[in-house]
Amino acid sequence: MDEFALIRQNFAKAIINDSVALGIGDDCALLIPPAGKQLAVSMDTLVEGTHFPKGAPAKRIATRALATALSDLAAMGAEPLWFTLGLTLPNANQQWVGDFCDGLLEFADTHQCTLVGGDITRGPLTITVQVHGSITPGQALCRSGAQPDDIIYVTGSLGDGAAALAVLQQNITVRKAAQDYLVDRFYKPTPRIKEGRLLSTIAHAGIDISDGLYADLSHICQASGVGALIDVNRIPLSPYWGNKVSRDKALAWAISGGDDYELCVTVPRTQVATLETWIKSDRINATAIGKITHKPEIYMVNKGKTMAFDIEGYKHFE
Ligand code: ADP
Ligand code: MG
Repeated sequence: MDEFALIRQNFAKAIINDSVALGIGDDCALLIPPAGKQLAVSMDTLVEGTHFPKGAPAKRIATRALATALSDLAAMGAEPLWFTLGLTLPNANQQWVGDFCDGLLEFADTHQCTLVGGDITRGPLTITVQVHGSITPGQALCRSGAQPDDIIYVTGSLGDGAAALAVLQQNITVRKAAQDYLVDRFYKPTPRIKEGRLLSTIAHAGIDISDGLYADLSHICQASGVGALIDVNRIPLSPYWGNKVSRDKALAWAISGGDDYELCVTVPRTQVATLETWIKSDRINATAIGKITHKPEIYMVNKGKTMAFDIEGYKHFE
């Protein structure tokens, strides 16, 4: 028996449901898609040293891998169904895989997404997760759907991803409670599944914020052939670290930091009243930050002045 056969057994304990006719163990899984729905499929890869620090705890890596993949389903407005896992390991460390598997399956259960297969190979630590979700035809939140005069909303608050990175890289020190919150946000960002499904019923376009508001909003603008006008003073910032850094730094993190996994959507004016009702009744946490414009450029306005920001994308650990 090869050394990875033992490791594979960890994953065989994944709990399956009625949508799985045949789970882990054969050449393929056999799955039953919900009648009348489209399948939404997305894949994400995390490489040690690039997407998470070397030596990060196995459980933490597992939740980050699944959360970032699920965030893509959320961004589309899809409901999670199944996922597969590609695991590249430098060695067959049973303890490590046991921890990884526990973290993974627990998080999968929280989001009712079932592990149905995968692959294990030897090499530099790399985790690939492919998620499958379902969506009603015509309801997916595509990047290409934004229209001039749509109102731009973001869920939650922005900048936690960049603040967490600064904490992990020991560039800032914060209170213990704030540190715990931020490290948790980095390794276990909440995929905004519920929000995405709700927003898919009213929004024109959507994306999840993985590379920073500016970069991801520009993906929407490019795909839709439109521009945007953002009032930076409306951007919701986290209460956890805001007083630890200057307001300029906080805004820069929120705008170009990345790793937030909140949603950015564009909502037609006719649906704004509905969304505001949901916000007031706590059905969803979202904030209007600007609007879509005809001119294909993004302007970030701060108290009447137009601001310029670097599109930094993500930051390497090396
Ligand atoms: P094959 O050689 O036919 O590709 P494997 O021996 O790699 O199959 O895998 C056997 C079974 O274990 C398959 O059902 C596969 O999906 C599952 N499996 C392998 N690796 C993983 C993993 N990392 N996570 C979940 N299931 C896995
Ligand atoms: Mg086979």
